[in-house]
Amino acid sequence: MKKIVTLGEILVEIMAVDRGQSFRAPGTLVGPFASGAPAIFIDQVAKLGQPCGIVSCVGDDDFGWLNIERLRGDGVDVSAIRVHPEQVTGSAFVRYQENGERDFVFNIKNSACGHISMTEQAEKLLAGCDHFHIMGSSLFSFRIIDVIKKAIEIVKGNGGTVSFDPNIRKEMLNIPEMRAALEFMLEYCDIFLPSGPEISLLTEADDEETAIREILDMGVSSIVVKRGPKGSSYYDAERSVHGRSFPVEELDPTGAGDCFGATYVTCRLQGRSVEEALRYANASGARTVTRKGPMEGASSFAELDAFIASHEVAA
Ligand code: ATP
Ligand code: MG
Repeated sequence: MKKIVTLGEILVEIMAVDRGQSFRAPGTLVGPFASGAPAIFIDQVAKLGQPCGIVSCVGDDDFGWLNIERLRGDGVDVSAIRVHPEQVTGSAFVRYQENGERDFVFNIKNSACGHISMTEQAEKLLAGCDHFHIMGSSLFSFRIIDVIKKAIEIVKGNGGTVSFDPNIRKEMLNIPEMRAALEFMLEYCDIFLPSGPEISLLTEADDEETAIREILDMGVSSIVVKRGPKGSSYYDAERSVHGRSFPVEELDPTGAGDCFGATYVTCRLQGRSVEEALRYANASGARTVTRKGPMEGASSFAELDAFIASHEVAA
């Protein structure tokens, strides 16, 4: 079975309880939840029974161990998670605006996450990797971008493939390193997994169709656009396929894109068709938003089969 590896931030997430709650005044919070987009991604891969691992760094504190134990328990290879003796595990505080949009206070760059490096264990994990996945949220410093470039070299050198989810958070676009690295990633990825609005952020094109053409012409073999409650669409040089969503009541959108991507990539590496991969990935994303907490909605194939059997697709 093919092994999937990712590299990037592991965090705890702490959530404001009420919609519209401010972070400029005291309020009730819930957490810590295991989190970090790459961590959610790889946890979902593990839940599907696919061999997988993550390169990361946490502090020697409860937040770090909460994540390591969670990922290990779900079947992720945690050998390349460094436990830093002096740094503190990264964190994200999230609140929901009345309209459902999310605002974050991140502590990533100046946490243990900022010390992710190409350790011996990381090299070993990457040497046995068939597919490497990167989240745009991980491109937060020159230092980590360098490590990612080295990792891509190792994986591509061994004939592996790369996927990239830009996962842009408005709070992160102020980081200058990130903008440059987004372009680098587009150049090297085989599967590109943007959300609808992200496509226009990354190209000069005015409409989605032209943007998709432009990105395919850059050498990306396939693009899967995530459209929230509207499902997802696949594009390659020859064809496009739309995957209809499974309407659900959204309780917490965090993690939907990560679980979607993990399920899509896993299905494709298992040799499943685009249509089947989209169906499982849409079900995976939909199931995630019905659960509170970023990593709490990851699904096994049995859970996805049961979900698909009991839900109608959107018209
Ligand atoms: P994130 O904001 O977490 O980064 P994203 O923008 O990367 O998410 P979304 O498009 O929000 O990703 O969600 C991924 C997939 O999950 C969608 O393509 C869809 O299949 C499913 N999904 C998300 N929200 C809903 C919803 N409210 N109802 C049904 N399915 C949903
Ligand atoms: Mg996303």
